[in-house]
Amino acid sequence: MSVMVTCDEVPNKSIRLLPRITADSVRLVWAAAPRLLIVSIVLKLLNGVGLAATLVFGRDLISSVLAADAVKPGIGAVAPQLATVVGIVAAIGLITAAGREVREILSETTARHAKQAIIDVAAKVELSAYETPNFHDRLLRASAAEHRPIQMVDGVVGTIGSIASIGGIVVALLTIQPWLVPLLFLAGLPLLIGVVKAGQAMFGFHLRMTTVARARGYLYRLLTAKDPAKEVRAFGLAGYLTARHTALYDQHMAELRKTTRKRFRIAVISTIGLSLALGGGLAGLLALALSGRLALAETATAAAALLILGERILTTVNNIGDLYEAGLFVEDYTTFLATAPHQHGHTGTWPAPAKFDRITVDNVSFTYPAANGPALREVSLEIQAGQVIALVGENGSGKTTLAKLLSRLYLPAAGTIRWDGTDTADLDPDELHRRIAVIFQDFARYDLTARENIGFGAVEHVDDQSAVQAAARHAGADSYLSELPKGYETILSPEYDGGRDLSVGQWQRVALARAFIRDAPLIILDEPTAALDPRAEHDLFRRIRSLYKGRTVLLISHRYNTVRDADHIYVLDEGQIVEHGDHDELMAANGVYAELFTLQAAAYTGRRSDDAAR
Ligand code: ADP
Repeated sequence: MSVMVTCDEVPNKSIRLLPRITADSVRLVWAAAPRLLIVSIVLKLLNGVGLAATLVFGRDLISSVLAADAVKPGIGAVAPQLATVVGIVAAIGLITAAGREVREILSETTARHAKQAIIDVAAKVELSAYETPNFHDRLLRASAAEHRPIQMVDGVVGTIGSIASIGGIVVALLTIQPWLVPLLFLAGLPLLIGVVKAGQAMFGFHLRMTTVARARGYLYRLLTAKDPAKEVRAFGLAGYLTARHTALYDQHMAELRKTTRKRFRIAVISTIGLSLALGGGLAGLLALALSGRLALAETATAAAALLILGERILTTVNNIGDLYEAGLFVEDYTTFLATAPHQHGHTGTWPAPAKFDRITVDNVSFTYPAANGPALREVSLEIQAGQVIALVGENGSGKTTLAKLLSRLYLPAAGTIRWDGTDTADLDPDELHRRIAVIFQDFARYDLTARENIGFGAVEHVDDQSAVQAAARHAGADSYLSELPKGYETILSPEYDGGRDLSVGQWQRVALARAFIRDAPLIILDEPTAALDPRAEHDLFRRIRSLYKGRTVLLISHRYNTVRDADHIYVLDEGQIVEHGDHDELMAANGVYAELFTLQAAAYTGRRSDDAAR
């Protein structure tokens, strides 16, 4: 087994992008929680000031102790200074504690803000985006990047702090031995290149492993979630799936080890470079001291400053490296947010009409992004307001695809779908969706209350108990829903306390109720009754006209006998409409419909086929 690994090369993003990405990060955190950001930075600065103050006041205290000792012993003389130092230490403790808590909230607020932006984009893009692996990869990476902006802000504050401390030492060194300064900065340069390469390596690792991570996440859900649990057990799949999960994790770990080894090699080279520079500097100082050209005190001070500066440069460059690495993720995240709505966004802006007289499907073709051939080829049909139209055909003939196009979940690749002459591609999709109630075979089963499961058909009425109950009554679901422990407030999932599951047929009635409650002129039912028993199905289909009086219904089925009462029946085969007409016309034409209707009726009733056709 193997999973296709997208070998996106790490884009060669120069460190020059860092200021822009840093600004993006600060903007993100600022947008999420401006006040908290300010408080957090102020607390960090206070912390720094506090540390400096401890040193200054501590030194004064020690001097006073030394002085006091000589003149008049006793703690009283130094008590105020002692109290000051203790006070500062206590203040630092409090500032640190407060800083930690503020940062926690700031971090989570930023993550929440970042997540919300992802949700907004994910909810807005065209459904076809979900058909492309690249969208899923980018979505996963964006979701994983939610803590990166705050990491960058931390990094910036930390880097500014360490650059400030470097400044002090540089000034000191410049007064003693100026040549040491450029030497160390030269040594810092390969170090900087090193951390940039290391950051790219880590980002590249995540880029390469995104698809693997998704596949792994999927297997994990298969092994831990409720819905697949029954098949996993019944078919004894746990071992096989676990082995796949392990193999993918091995792949992840192998790649991670390779990446960490690469990073370590980079670190070794740059550390050796820095050490050589430090060694050279020290050797130079010692040579100067030994030849008597530099006083001992100056040599010692310069050597100490050199060592401290070396360590600070290392820390700072590592800080910048972390910043750069986090920046690559932030950039990935921000470009996803910026480009996804354009790549996968819709264009229609015209308000959708409240109703229609006629829907015209004209020469529509459609190919799924992940398919080789078209699912629909030059399909044309017409739906008049108030009609019950049926779409029949074998599995895979394109019925669901046509339903998805009619409900404006996809746009046709060629041809048009028009509402009274207006191309639906020009209409605002959200508004158009409000005019259509569609129930697919694989309708959603929400782990929420029965009321919500029905009310979601018209979310503005989700709290309207009587509307929900009326819809349930229409769909024949009221009898068992009102019997539930908490009635309509029962969660339809045993994963929650007091929750209950329903049978497949009962779920289907809930889905039908969801379509009933939506006050839409067009109802699309894609095999809504497949799990109902034949009598219930028959009842429902007989009632459809009266249930949806005044509305237009598109009924999809692969059972021919269920749609015979429709006003017009379209027969799909391999993505094309091969026949259409009402039941009598199609039977008289003696084509595919007549043949399959007769065949199915015979299989169902067990009677001879020519009997059944009558
Ligand atoms: P039906 O509803 O008549 O059973 P569908 O409309 O679901 O048929 O499918 C029509 C064709 O499109 C089939 O060949 C199916 O394999 C293909 N198909 C359906 N969904 C997708 C998809 N998301 N990606 C690629 N191909 C698809």
